[in-house]
Formats: sequence, C-alpha cells, structure tokens
Amino acid sequence: MVKAKIIFVTGGVLSSLGKGLSSASIGALMESRGLKISLQKLDPYINVDPGTMNPFQHGEVFVTDDGAETDLDLGHYERFTNSVLGKKNNFTTGQIYDSVISKERQGEYLGKTVQVIPHITDEIKRHILAITKGVDIAIIEIGGTVGDIESLPFLEAIRQFKFDIGKENVLYIHLTLVPFLPTAGEVKTKPTQHSVKSLQEIGIQPDILLCRTDRILPPEVKLKIALFCNVDKDAVITARDVESVYEVPVVFHQEGLDDKIVELLNIWTRAPRLEKWEELNQKIKALKHKVTIAIVGKYVSLTDAYKSLNEALIHGGISNCSNVELVYVDSEKIEDKGADSFLSAIDGILVPGGFGERGIAGKIEAICYAREKKIPFLGICLGMQLAVVEFAKNVCGLKDANSSEFAADTPYPVINLLPGQKGIADKGGTMRLGAYPCVLKKGSKAAAIYGKQNISERHRHRFEFNNAYKDILAGHGLILSGMSPDGELVEIIEVKDHPWFFGCQFHPEFKSRPITPHPMFREFIRASLENRGN
Ligand code: GLN
Repeated sequence: MVKAKIIFVTGGVLSSLGKGLSSASIGALMESRGLKISLQKLDPYINVDPGTMNPFQHGEVFVTDDGAETDLDLGHYERFTNSVLGKKNNFTTGQIYDSVISKERQGEYLGKTVQVIPHITDEIKRHILAITKGVDIAIIEIGGTVGDIESLPFLEAIRQFKFDIGKENVLYIHLTLVPFLPTAGEVKTKPTQHSVKSLQEIGIQPDILLCRTDRILPPEVKLKIALFCNVDKDAVITARDVESVYEVPVVFHQEGLDDKIVELLNIWTRAPRLEKWEELNQKIKALKHKVTIAIVGKYVSLTDAYKSLNEALIHGGISNCSNVELVYVDSEKIEDKGADSFLSAIDGILVPGGFGERGIAGKIEAICYAREKKIPFLGICLGMQLAVVEFAKNVCGLKDANSSEFAADTPYPVINLLPGQKGIADKGGTMRLGAYPCVLKKGSKAAAIYGKQNISERHRHRFEFNNAYKDILAGHGLILSGMSPDGELVEIIEVKDHPWFFGCQFHPEFKSRPITPHPMFREFIRASLENRGN
C-alpha cells in the first residue's frame, strides 16, 4: 500500500527550461507547508554509470553522502530542500535495462518473453516506489523532453501510476515554453498546445502547466492555454524568468502553485511558511559589495561543469553581502601567457576538482601566484593535491615533485595511490566516494572556520596525500589541519604565514545551501573581500 502522493514533472518544447529547478522549488514549497518530501530524477540515457560521463557534455557529477555519482539536478534538490539524497534518488534507462537483463539471465522471468511493457515499465515503477516510503510527497522529474524516443518507457510507467494508486494520489505537472514573438508583439501558445497534445497522445493529461516565459501571462492567455490544453484556469502558472534561481519558490507561490497542488491532491496542510526564502531574496537584492573570484580549471567553457561550486560561491557571497563575479580561467592559457596576465586583478583564486593531465602546469602556476602574492586561495580535491605539489616543489625544494596521477616516475610522489589501490586497472570502482568523517586540529584556522572539531564532507577521488612527506612538508610550514579519525588520511591543508590559503581533499560545495552557506565558502569570500579592500 503506497501512502505517499506522487508528483510527476515532465518537460516539453525544448530542454533547459528549468525542470530541475522547478522540481526543487515544488519540493521547497511542499516542505514550507510542513510536508515530508523526497525527490528523484529519471535520466533517459543508456549509461549505467553517470559518473563516467564527460562534464563537458553533461555538466557536473553531483556526489551524495552515500557515494552515488548523480545528475546535477540532485544538487538543485538538496540546495532547495532539507532532503539528503542518495543512490536511489537518481536512475538511468541503462540501470533499468541492466537490472532487467540480469534478472532475465538469472531465470527470474521463467521463460517469458521479456518486453518493454510490462518488464521495463515495472522495473521503472519499482524504482519510483522505492523513494515513496516514509514521505508525504514524492516528486519525480522525468529527464528529456516529451516526444523523445528515449523517454517513452518512463512516460508509460508514470501513466500507469494513476491506475495503480488512484487519481487523487498522482499529479502530472508539465513545464513548457510560452515565447514572446517581437514581430507579432504577443506571446505564442502553440508550442505549449503541441507539447500537451504529445503528452495526451500517450495517455497523460497534465494537471498543472508551468509556462516558462519572460513576462507575466495575461489572464486571457492563461484562459486560452487552459481551454486548449484541458486544464483548470488556475492551473496555468506563469514561470517567468527571474534574476536569481532562489526567487523561483516565492514566484511559484505568488502564482498559486502550492495551493493548486494541495487542492488537486486533496491534502490538508498548514499555511506555507516562506519567511526564510523571502529573507534570502531580500538579502540577494541588497548585496552591496563585489568580489572577483578566478576559477582556474579545464571545463571553463561549460559552467554547468562547476554547478555546485558556482552556487556555493554565490552562497558565500550572500552571507557577506557581496555579489560574486566569477572569472573562469583556462589553465592552459596560463601556461602560455603566465599567471599575472589573468590573475592580477583578482580578489581570490580557486582551483577546483578535476581529472587528467591537461592544464596541470597552469594550475600549479596559479597556486604559486596565490601563495606568493598572499591572495586568498581555495583548492578543492585536485586543487588541494596540486597545492601540495606546488608547496613541495617551490617551498621544500623537492624539484619534480608531482602526483603519481600525472608522473608515475616522479622522484617525489607527494600525492599517491594508497598501497592497497595500486595496480587496479579498472578505473570504474576505485574512487573514494561519498561522506567521510574528518577531525579538525584544535586551534587551527580550519577549526575556527567550521566552529567545531568533527565534520563530515563528500569525496570523489582516487589519489591521496602521501604520508611519507608529512614531516618535510609540515616542517616547511604546511599545516595538516584536517585528518581522517584514524589519522591516516590528510583531508585539509593550510599554509602558515598566509592570510587565507586552504586545500581540502573533499568537495565542500556539495553541502552548501543558500539558506545555510558552507563555512569554507563564507570565509573564502570574506577573505577575498578583505583582500580587495572592501
Ligand atoms: N584526479 C584526482 C584524483 O583522482 C582528483 C579528483 C577530483 O578532483 N575530484 O584523486
């Protein structure tokens, strides 16, 4: 017996309309009414392991506490809600086929013909139901756009839910586009009509339409959409463009979205409490300072590759009343032209996580620049590893020090695989993934930043600080201020005699939320503002 109600979110007309943010905002609104929620993203591609997908094409890999490498939409879900998500909150077509095929291999289908309907669709439904336990509302986002061949099994599965659990327990919300045509001087509803028609053809009648547009839709346009798409007048919601994504929950509420959802699902809730969101938006509108942060990396042409990082920096800005201007610097260009030509007018320098050798020398140059010129620096994962390499080379005199990821034969492998990891050829399963505890050194700057000694942060890497170099690095002023509880793994480094120089082996950006910014980003922005002289 399924107790939760389920909201399915589909998208039409074109991609990138903000389905992930809309789903996250619906989650925020439901939580603001005191409901317990969960969220899930269904990805239509065939990859079984989204962790191996190229961030250039696909954007960031978001890592959960339980070590799942997931779609970046899960980052939106966590940032907008109180949910802590995991493996079961994201699945791909590839994973569904993989489990159906392995069941078939084990003879579970007893010689039956294995088909898309019912075997694939049943497997999809089983995965959806897995997140409905213990919550009032499960919000399920279907990736892709209605009309894609790939999404069809997902849509068929969600269509069946109305029959399986009853129509008062299921809601279909469709996000569509209502463009303004300057030559006609009006907004156009045809793309929405067509998109809804495609949904209806597969048996899904949307209950609510979120109409992405650049202006408030006038009542007559809403009426026309309602009439042609067969939805209630007050179920046509204007999803207008906003300056900050964090305005979306409040804007949706003003349009009556949450009222309509609880009415259609027939649930009684308390009135929504959106004070925290309103306060956040007031803060965003009142930002008075400005700080410029350089992100020195490889995927600089696609900022979605650093989605959580960008958001965490914005959160850090909000807690310091500051706008944050992000300047993406391609580290290979630093190799050609030198750090000074890109970094001289920058207030803080960040080297993010990454894989592969390309651009490494440029990142090391940027780190050296930050250390010598006393510019606030934050190195994340690969950024921390390279900060250790830079320190070993330029401060400890270990010329040719490197990470063994980039130079297997380096005389000084200051970053290395752990002994047990060596020789593992299959790169698929060797990473340290997910949440690990870390103990901060008493009296260190790190402990002051976090305001406590025991923390937990998320990881995604193979290589580690090589303990054989602990003494020489520490002897030259590298502070190892965060360690695994058994003292074996270095998690945070600081540089002595520098106003603000940190490296962390984990990814703090995955745990930052707009309402509760991560302390590491809050303090990095604060230090960068001080450096600017604000
Ligand atoms: N490539 C490095 C490693 O595997 C760092 C990974 C990262 O930055 N996420 O350890």
